[in-house]
Formats: sequence, structure tokens, C-alpha cells
Amino acid sequence: MTATTSPAVALDARLRQLDMGDGPFAPAKVAELDRKEAFPTDACSALDDFGLGAHYVPVKHGGRLERFPDLVALWRTVARRDLTAAIGHGKTFLGGACTWVEGNAKQAAALGEEIQQGARVSWGLTERHHGSDLLAGELSATRTSEGWRLDGEKWLINNATRGHLVSVLARTEPAGGPRGFSVFLVDKRTLPPGAFHCLPKERTHGIRGADISGIAFTGADVPDSALVGRQGGGIELVLKALQLTRTVAVAMSLGAGDHALRLTVDFAKAHQLYERRLVDLPRARRPLGQAATQLLLAEAVTCVGSRSLHALTNEASLTSALTKAFVPSAINDMIAQLADLMGARSFLSDVYAHGMFQKLERDHRIIAIFDGSTLVNRNAVINQFPVLVRAWRQERRDAEGLATATTLTAPLPEADLSRLALISLGGCSVVQGLPAALQRLQALEEGGGVPKHVAVLARALGTATAAVHERMAAHPPSPRDVPPEAFHLAEHYEACFAGAACLHLWLNHQARATGPLWSDALWLEACLVNVLSRLGVETAPDAADVFDRLAATVVDAPGLVSLLDDVRTEGAP
Ligand SMILES: Cc1cc2nc3c(=O)[nH]c(=O)nc-3n(C[C@H](O)[C@H](O)[C@H](O)COP(=O)(O)OP(=O)(O)OC[C@H]3O[C@@H](n4cnc5c(N)ncnc54)[C@H](O)[C@@H]3O)c2cc1C
Repeated sequence: MTATTSPAVALDARLRQLDMGDGPFAPAKVAELDRKEAFPTDACSALDDFGLGAHYVPVKHGGRLERFPDLVALWRTVARRDLTAAIGHGKTFLGGACTWVEGNAKQAAALGEEIQQGARVSWGLTERHHGSDLLAGELSATRTSEGWRLDGEKWLINNATRGHLVSVLARTEPAGGPRGFSVFLVDKRTLPPGAFHCLPKERTHGIRGADISGIAFTGADVPDSALVGRQGGGIELVLKALQLTRTVAVAMSLGAGDHALRLTVDFAKAHQLYERRLVDLPRARRPLGQAATQLLLAEAVTCVGSRSLHALTNEASLTSALTKAFVPSAINDMIAQLADLMGARSFLSDVYAHGMFQKLERDHRIIAIFDGSTLVNRNAVINQFPVLVRAWRQERRDAEGLATATTLTAPLPEADLSRLALISLGGCSVVQGLPAALQRLQALEEGGGVPKHVAVLARALGTATAAVHERMAAHPPSPRDVPPEAFHLAEHYEACFAGAACLHLWLNHQARATGPLWSDALWLEACLVNVLSRLGVETAPDAADVFDRLAATVVDAPGLVSLLDDVRTEGAP
């Protein structure tokens, strides 16, 4: 599959010069900073020099962010070298997101200019005693004659200390509630001494060099112009901005997955035991194939999720939650699987590849926690079960938007952020488009265009998806005390989404795509077997053999394992 030109290829070429010798992305350097818990300043400066910040600013506000999939590709390129640098640098996009969604033209242009000049922006949502529960936030903004006065603390904030500006969610009505919060873009550089102080860096399990700290305001006066969006509209604004950030943040997972797979394949090819290479033991090949499948699934979901921000914008409350719940979990599983294969080398910090595996394993844990944990995102899907059931039964879908979201060569319209909504009234076109996709597959099968056993797997996904909707219909809405079964069901719905994303992508590209992953629908088969196993659907006894066949492709692959041409040409991490 060929995406249109990607700035990630240029970034990769630049980073290849910097990940050797004593360059800032060289594994020895990355490991040293991690050991010292030191911020990767030189790496982030190199990203600044490349102009990565311009890709955090939408084109309409003077930057170069035109397509969210491009931002995903850029972050993935950095993350496959060092998650600490990727997260440390990328935070500025998250910090700006509220302004891109609802800031006025003047605010957005000014912030866009600042970011392109190198300003770092952080995002302060969480408080010490209130993690995901945004409505419990205590930091207050009180009206003054000239603006607002901020008091209170935000804690566990990435770049709170290093950042120049911070987007803050503040309580503007003492009673709180959904209309009781507002967002302020606070420029720390304009505050008088004593109006704020940064909290100490917290020591962390992974991304040890990152600036995970906090900020406390004491009577900090900010002008009226610091208010982003409507007074009282802060919660809604944050929930919309999170739809952007949750979707693109999973790029970090893809980068970690690329890195983990490459390290393990290289190790398994070089490591000798019982007078053979590890990679030649059948028991070793299967996990490689299974791990590659997780990565391909995660990539397919991310690809469709990020394109959906443009093509199915009003469904982003669902596609973002599904993407953020699915991808980091899949990559966590993948990394754990590969760690088993690496054995001691996954645990030692100096012996193999400068301990990069154990670092990425630790670093990656955070992706499933921040910006809405996996459970928080599943909860967001559960809240929309009734809409999803109705839309499935009515066979509703935005066929045009779905085709654009799942066809990589289709031009993407500008993402109209005013169409972001808290609920997707149309449900999820990716899943609701599954029956029509199965009809297309059947026509192909009749013409011999797809192996019969793969079509059987796809039909099993269709049957399982219908059953999941029946179970969702039977689930009584319970906004407060959500039972564990509902989370299990949401996890199953995610699997349906992932399987459907794969099928759409495969159908839309199979006629022209070439290469071993596409031969006999190899990657689709592997992904369907994985998804059906997640759904508890029994498959043929030899179904798992597909992972061995995929492993052969992975071991022989000259570069990265990916459905995307741009990624494949970027070479080894
Ligand atoms: C390294 C790091 C960087 C961070 N960067 C930032 C940042 O830049 N800006 C920022 O605002 N915050 C940031 N955070 C905070 C982070 O977003 C929160 O920690 C996160 O939202 C999870 O909250 P919690 O685990 O602290 O607490 P809680 O939200 O109280 O969660 C505790 C547990 O409850 C679960 N849970 C929460 N809600 C539900 C639900 N509805 N249903 C079921 N289970 C639920 C959670 O998954 C978790 O397992 C960062 C945190 C870390 C560790």
C-alpha cells in the first residue's frame, strides 16, 4: 500500500545520521541518558532543527500539519529510536490541541508561530488526587476585573518544568459540573515571580529522562485572551481535543513495536544454541510471527483511526477511543511475547544492544496509561453501546467516509475539527461496514481472488461481530457502576473494529499491492486468526500455522515489517 509522500522519510534519513557514533539518537547515548535519568536535550534539539514542531501546527494556523497520518509516521520514526525523546518532544502537540480545536484565529496563529519558533507547550489536566476524573479537578480560575486568577496544582505533567506554555483545565464554577470548567493557555514567561512554581521531577519506571513534574499556581493573573473556547466549555473541549491526541499518540506504540521486533529478529538470527540459530527453532519462529501480527493489526487500526479524523470526523469519539484502547495493549502483549524469546537479553541493561529492549519495554508502559488509560477508553466505548447497537441494526454507515478512511491513496479532506462530537450518532462505520465488505470478499472468492480459508475466517468475524452486538444490546446502561463484563465486551468490540479495519484495508489494496505480506492474503489471514482468538472463536487446528509463514517473511524482511510503503523503505531502526 502506498501512502502519499511522507515527511517521515525525510526525518528518518536525518535520524539515521544521528543514531550512529556519539549522535544523540545512538543507542549508547540513549542508554546513558536513561541511566542518568537525564532529559534527551540534544535529541530534542535535533528534532527542533528538523522542524518537527511545524508538524504540530495545522496548516490553517501557519504550520505543516495537513494530515494526521503524517504526524503518526513522524512520531513512529522517532519512537523507534527513543520513546523518551518522542514523548518529550511530542507533548507540544498535545499542549496545543485545545487551541487547534476551539481557539480563535488569533490565538491559534500566535501559538502556531510560538511552536515553530521552538516553544514547548504542556497539557495540564491531571491533579494529584484526581487522575482520570476531570470533573473532580480543584485548580480554580476566578474572574478578576482584567481576566482570571489561577490557584491550584496540576501534577504528573509532562514538560511542566521545561515547557514555556501550558494548557490548563481549570474549575471556573465553584460547583463544578460539566459546564463548570474552562481551558486556559497560560504563558509561564509572562507570569510574575511567585505566581507559580514548578514541582519536582518525579522518578519514573520508564521514560526516565522525561520531565514528569507539575506546576502550582498561586494567584496567577492571566488575561482574558488566555481563555480557550467558551467559558464553561472546558470539559467538552478537552474531550474533543483528546480525540485527536489519543489517535495520534499510538504512533509511540508503533515505534516501540518496530524497535522491539527488529531487536528480537536480529538477536534470534545471531544467537546460536544447540548448534543452530535461535531463529531456526520452530518454537522460536512462531512468536515472531505472532508478534508481527500484533504490529500489523496495530498499524492497520492506527492507519484507519488517523485517517478517520479526516474522513469520519464525527465518529472520532469512537475511533479514537478504540484506537487508544487497542493499540498500546496489543503492543504491550507483543513486547511481552518478544521478551520471552529474547530471554536474559530482554532483562540485561548492558549486554545486548545497550539494553534497548528493556528500556523500550519500560518506556512503553506509559502509552496505555496517559491521555486516557485503556480502561478509560473502554468506558468511553461502553457509554456508546446503545448507539452502536442501533446503528448496526440499521446497517448505517458513511460509505464515502469509510472508503476514504480505508484507502491509502484516497486524498484526505482537511480535518474539520468543528465536526468533532462527544457522541457518534452514526455509530462506527468501520464496523458497520463489515457486512458489505464481506459481500465484496465473497465476490472475490468466487473469482478465486482470495484463498477460501481466509474468506472462511472473515465470515467467522462477521458472525462474531453480530453476536457481540447482541450481547451489547443485552447490556443495561449503567453510567456509574459499569460492570466488568461491559469492559470485556468493549474489548471484544475493539477486536471487531481491528478485524474490520484489516478487511477494509485489504479489500481496497489487494488488487495492486505486491510483496510477500500480500501474497495469498498472508497478513490478512494472520490478523484474522489473531482477532478471532481475541473473540474466543475457535478456528481450524492448523490456523496458527499462518504465524510460522508470516515469521519467514519477518525474518527475511530487509527493513521494517509494515503494510505502508513509506515505513518499509525507512530501513532498520
Ligand atoms: C509519565 C506520565 C506522564 C503524564 N503526563 C501527563 C500530562 O502531560 N498531562 C496530564 O494531564 N496528565 C499526565 N499524566 C497523568 C495521567 O494522564 C494519569 O495518571 C492518568 O490519567 C491515569 O490516572 P491515574 O492512574 O493517576 O489515576 P486514576 O484515574 O484514578 O486511575 C486509577 C485506576 O483506575 C482506572 N480507571 C480510571 N477511570 C476508570 C473508569 N472510568 N473505569 C474503569 N477504570 C478506571 C485507571 O485505568 C487506573 O487503573 C501523566 C502520567 C504519567 C505517569
